[in-house]
Amino acid sequence: MTDTLKVTKIAESKINQVDFSNLAFGTVFTDHMFVCEYKNGKWQTPEILPYGPLQMDPSAKVFHYGQAVFEGMKAYKDDKGDVYMFRPEENFNRINKSGERLAMPAFEKDYFFDGLNTLLNLDKDWIKPGEGNSLYIRPFVIATENGVSASPSSEYKFVIICAPAQAYYSGEVRVLFADHYSRSADGGVGFAKAAGNYAAQFYPTELAKAKGYNQVVWTDANTHEYLEEAGTMNVFFRVNDTLLTAPTNDRILDGITRKSLIELAKSQGINVEVRPVKVAEIVEAAENGSLKEMFGAGTAAVISPISGFTHKEKAFDLPTMEDAYATKLKKQLTELQANRSEDPFGWRY
Ligand code: PMP
Repeated sequence: MTDTLKVTKIAESKINQVDFSNLAFGTVFTDHMFVCEYKNGKWQTPEILPYGPLQMDPSAKVFHYGQAVFEGMKAYKDDKGDVYMFRPEENFNRINKSGERLAMPAFEKDYFFDGLNTLLNLDKDWIKPGEGNSLYIRPFVIATENGVSASPSSEYKFVIICAPAQAYYSGEVRVLFADHYSRSADGGVGFAKAAGNYAAQFYPTELAKAKGYNQVVWTDANTHEYLEEAGTMNVFFRVNDTLLTAPTNDRILDGITRKSLIELAKSQGINVEVRPVKVAEIVEAAENGSLKEMFGAGTAAVISPISGFTHKEKAFDLPTMEDAYATKLKKQLTELQANRSEDPFGWRY
């Protein structure tokens, strides 16, 4: 631990007020948060503080230009009470990659890991053992310089907050393949976890929800002929016994679940093809019965099976598979994450 992390503990924990059997995702937060400010060209002494409001000037740039990036990661507790994170270095690297695209300074690696370790130690009672339980960790960076000139901020806050989470059951998921709106474009910020990417998805997703769909599967902005992401998840297709997913590019987020599933599936002998996936081939596979599965992959839900899709007003149902890859891979990945199985890849931290 750096001797420069300042810790101010909460006077009395709020944990007894929380019903851990009935948690709406991302609405209840732990006792402490990590905050580090950037000014005068450098990151200042990081602090752990009681969770609470941030005070900012109304002219702070984040409110006007959305100069903000974030991450989403999880910690798990095993039956011995030990706490594990899953590939956190990937999240650290990604928030700096996102920040670079938004003209933000890179964060310090030792501040990030010392902050996380100290925060999780302080709030470890909020992490419950058992299947499906986890702590969702939300690091984010916001532009805090006062003044509404449209230029990069010279001041930032790097903050980490944590929310206890339960298993995520989405129920039946029906999706709409996008043929008008896009979430990202070539040369844009789709590969970054930039706050504005999510704001821009809300409206087309609301339109799809009004038509009875749970999510939009985003296609490439130029032609809408290639399938890229499912809502805020990467997307996989199983055609016969082959698993397909798009390669990452500057429109697609380099998901940690995605890249872990690719390795996990390959190690199981599943044939995985990482290549552009055409809307036309998935429609054809659905028509001829070779499309067996479709699922989203991301930290929050791990794997979210999709039961049907609609493309240009035509709806298709997916079969219910007894030995679905989605079920098998989700079990393997969640057991590995929570230290209930071996970790041949060295992913646990
Ligand atoms: N795509 C988008 C757009 C996302 O927001 C996320 C969630 N971070 C993912 C994919 C999945 O990434 P990960 O597996 O790293 O959570």
